[in-house]
Amino acid sequence: MSRELRRVVVTGGAGFLGSHLCDRLVGDGVEVVCLDNLLTGDPANLLHLQGNPAFRFLRCDVTDFVHVPGKVDAVLHFASPASPIDYLKLPIETLKVGSLGTLHSLGLAMEKGARFVLASTSEVYGDPQVHPQPETYWGHVNPVGPRGVYDEAKRFSEALVTAYRTSRSVDTGIVRIFNTYGPRMRPDDGRAIPTFMRQALAGAPVTVAGDGSQTRSICYVDDLVTGIVALAGSDFPGPVNIGNPDEMSVLELARRIIDLTASTSDVEFIDRPVDDPGVRRPDTAVAQRELGWEPRVSWHDGLARTADWFVKELAAA
Ligand code: NAD
Repeated sequence: MSRELRRVVVTGGAGFLGSHLCDRLVGDGVEVVCLDNLLTGDPANLLHLQGNPAFRFLRCDVTDFVHVPGKVDAVLHFASPASPIDYLKLPIETLKVGSLGTLHSLGLAMEKGARFVLASTSEVYGDPQVHPQPETYWGHVNPVGPRGVYDEAKRFSEALVTAYRTSRSVDTGIVRIFNTYGPRMRPDDGRAIPTFMRQALAGAPVTVAGDGSQTRSICYVDDLVTGIVALAGSDFPGPVNIGNPDEMSVLELARRIIDLTASTSDVEFIDRPVDDPGVRRPDTAVAQRELGWEPRVSWHDGLARTADWFVKELAAA
């Protein structure tokens, strides 16, 4: 079934993904209320929407309480630190937004009779022993390792969402997002693509963790947003993987970014972070079947668009 979305709440809307989601929704004629405490987000991501009558920003911490007056058709819960640098620096905040923040956001959806969508992550699969990862795989996560604060917060969120679906009849959807990239990533957020872009554009060594043979599958942000909007407009509970199955090694990714930016940088190998996943590739059969979704932007086009943005961003900094 597809539903009409007239007014949508986006938590974490000042962040990388949330701001692109706000853009798409407003562009589609949807009224958007963005809730964000600016913990890792940036108001500059929303500057172009300020003054638009279809958009409202409310600065609030969703772990305290969530209140939005008026009718709401969907609550899209994207608030959470997401890059390893952020969640390692903010472990308690990450666990709180995954637990209390999800609880309060679900409460809002229940009060309004709205659809609820959780931004979960491929990190629920941990360092996977099944490859590629289908939604039926339960994962391989170390709860007491450094990444446990993020991975377990998201696994708890998924359980909480499921409980609200089964025992409170809230209409919910869970999306497991695989590595997504594009404009508005922070150059210093520690994730591979912004780090490699920043280093390559400065002609500095491009730092690859380990021997770079670990793999990632990278999805351009526009494709991801299309998948989220499709899930929000459906009644599919998920979980559903949204990601681009075009897998590459991290070393290959570094070399592609060096080539694309016509950089003179060399690759430098550095220590691999603890519990860094060895492989990552979504099985996207469920997304194709249930949402008619598949990625359209190639790594080449996506990285080129992202590089253009980083050139401008770094020049303005
Ligand atoms: P981001 O850090 O850019 O955005 C997160 C936003 O949440 C920020 O604007 C931050 O200020 C806000 N926030 C954090 N705690 C909050 C709180 N307590 N109350 C209100 N706002 C709060 O990260 P992102 O990459 O845009 O990720 C967005 C969501 O998507 C996260 O839930 C993340 O786990 C999920 N996700 C992202 C990726 C990816 O590749 N980017 C992959 C998997 C999952």
